[in-house]
Formats: sequence, C-alpha cells, structure tokens
Amino acid sequence: MTTCLPSHGPAARRRSVGVTVGDVVVGGGAPIVVQSMTNTDTADIAGTVEQVAALARAGSEIVRVTVNNAEAAAAVPMIREQLDKRGVNVPLVGDFHFNGHRLLTQHPACAEALAKLRINPGNVGKGAKRDQQFATMIDFACRLNKPVRIGVNWGSLDQELLARLMDENGRLPQPRDATVVMRDALVTSALESARQAEALGLPHDRIALSCKVSGVQDLIAVYRDLATRCDYPLHLGLTEAGMGSKGIVASTAAMAVLLQEGIGDTVRVSLTPEPGGDRTREVIVAQELLQTMGLRSFAPLVIACPGCGRTTSTVFQELADRIQGYLRAQMPEWRGRYPGVENMHVAVMGCVVNGPGESKQANIGISLPGSGETPVAPVFVDGVKTVTLKGDRIAEEFQRIVDQYVRDHYGSAEALAVAAAAR
Ligand code: SF4
Repeated sequence: MTTCLPSHGPAARRRSVGVTVGDVVVGGGAPIVVQSMTNTDTADIAGTVEQVAALARAGSEIVRVTVNNAEAAAAVPMIREQLDKRGVNVPLVGDFHFNGHRLLTQHPACAEALAKLRINPGNVGKGAKRDQQFATMIDFACRLNKPVRIGVNWGSLDQELLARLMDENGRLPQPRDATVVMRDALVTSALESARQAEALGLPHDRIALSCKVSGVQDLIAVYRDLATRCDYPLHLGLTEAGMGSKGIVASTAAMAVLLQEGIGDTVRVSLTPEPGGDRTREVIVAQELLQTMGLRSFAPLVIACPGCGRTTSTVFQELADRIQGYLRAQMPEWRGRYPGVENMHVAVMGCVVNGPGESKQANIGISLPGSGETPVAPVFVDGVKTVTLKGDRIAEEFQRIVDQYVRDHYGSAEALAVAAAAR
C-alpha cells in the first residue's frame, strides 16, 4: 500500500521529485518515510527474514540489507520469497560497496529481488575502474527499473575528489577552512555521481541522495547545502550516531533542525544496539522523532509526567510503561482495524497537581494518587471525568477503558467511513 498522508511540516525545501521504492514513495510531497537496516548476516536467510519482519512489524517502511559477498547476494531472492510468503511486503534495499558490480553481474536475481540499490560512490573503485564499476551497477538499475540511492558517507569519502577540491581550494586567494572543503566534497560527490548516473540513462526520478556524517553541526550544514543544490529526494540520517541516549540525542538534535526546515524525505536513526539489544528500537525512535514534531503519526502517544517527590511508589511509572507497551503492541492489528488510532493521546499522570489538567487535554487520561492523597484515580475521557478507579486493579481497568475508547472512536462504521473517504 502506498503511504499517502497529507503533506507535512515546513515545506520550504521539500523535494518536488518523488522516487518510488517498491510501493512506497519517497519525496515528491509524500509523508516522510521511516527506514531501517538489518544487522544480521544477510547469508543467514532465516535470521534476516526474522529481523526484517520484526522491523516491518515495528513500522519500518523500507528495510536495507547489506549485500557484501556472494552468499549474501545469493540469499537476497530467497529472503524476498520468504517475506512474501509471510505477507511481509516491505521493500528491500541492497547496500553495495567495493564489489557491488561483480555481485550484481554474478547474481542478477539479487537485483531483481531488491526494490532499490544503495551505491556508495566512495567505495566503488578508483580512476577508470571506478567509472566502469559504477556504470555496471547503474546499468542494472536502468534495465530493471530500480531506483538508486547515491549514499555518500564521511568515513568513505571519495579521496580523489577530496584531493581535487583541496587543491582547488589551495589555489584560492583566500582558501576556505578544511572542514568547509570536506563538507563540500561530500555534497559534490553525491551530485557528480547523480549526474553521472543520469548520463548513463538512469532517470532523474529514480535517484535519491544522502550525505551522512557523524557530527551534528556537519550534518546540518551538509544537508542545507545539498537541499539548495538539487531537487532529488533526500535520505536523512546521522551516521555512527552511537549507543543509547547519546545516539538518540545526537540523531534527534541534527535531524530535528533539518526536518523543521523541510529537509529530509526519508529518515533512518542509526543506533548501535546494546549486545543482544532490540534492533527495532531505531524504528521506534525515528517514529517518535517524527510524531513528536507533528510530522506524522504512528502510534498513540502516552503523555506521562516525570514524577517527583509526590510519587513515592512506582505505581505510576509501571502504569505509564504498561500502557505505552500495550498500545504499541496493539498497533500492527489496530493500524488496519482502527484507522486514526495513531493520533490518540493518553495521559498517565502522577498526582493531583497537573494530573487532572493534563488528563483533560488528552483523549483519555488518568490522574493517579500522589503520596498522601486519597488512593483514587479519576479517569477523564475527552476532557470529562467519567469514572474514579480504586483498589489494586487500576491498571487492568484503565486498559479496558482505553480498549473501549479505541473501539468506540476508531472502529465505528462512521469512523471507518471517514477514514476510507480520506484515503
Ligand atoms: S504531576 Fe504531580 S507527580 Fe507528576 S511531576 Fe507534577 S507534581 Fe510531580
């Protein structure tokens, strides 16, 4: 199903060109697309299928897999086939470096099974070989009608291009700072490669660009420049963002500035998972970034106060956590059955200070008793107090009220008709 939400956010520089990846449109005024990348060995078909399915279930609309060797290239068609059998139709993107030209030539079924090719122009080869190897990959994309992301990366920047720009800079009466030249080299690499791809026959509307760096200020500067110098859809992401809160904060800090300026048509949050960590976290963070900025809605939002000395027990944190987990777990089913439920707001508040006020602003809210307060929890539905819960089954009862609200407001014949008309 092609994603089709209304246009969003400050659209000053939003791309006019849209690229179709499988059945998802990137750019061209389409909603910003969330994508992710597997970290399984692509040759491990079962493991990769499992992770792609989990990422898609979490809401990833495009999933990229590395195609780094012959085993991985041979596995891609089987991964696609198994996903299709499971009803997981998320588009797959193949990530190619160094040997992409050879892998595509030796495994043509790999390219056919992919919805898009990602080519890193810094890792295609050197000199004449580079041009020839790049042309081989573009030729596959042209013949199979596949879009291409020209994905430049700070860590693998085309060194010949950088040296050329540094030399040119050195000859200027007032040479620019080396950082500025480096940023320019990233953008130039993407644009020159895109021009070369078009000269080889790849249509303009089958190209997306990215220029990923690991520094927040660098990313902002590079994408601002890129956005003014072309109209290709832009894949936005901070590369090597890092682990845990650092990765989330750095990605959010950089991407929020750009998204607010209308820059970025698809996003990936590149988090390093903790050992054994859940890969779907990068999808949830990307969704929450877009949703909290008011750019798209993916799952009901839980508004919870931070708690303070007025909440001496963990009841309130447990309830907020439980409701948030419950709502997200229901989304794969609710998405189809209750259109619009992703816009619902649920407030879980810790005491009487801000509890009733915040709860009234939400679709449903509960104001739990703080320390020393009467052990009752008023529930507000669309701003009106409907019931007061007490006892040790507050969580279960509140969840039941949420379920009822979802059925009544998003599952009625009237609600379904409104959603169908909007599609
Ligand atoms: S609503 Fe109450 S418990 Fe929550 S932060 Fe405010 S004062 Fe503290």
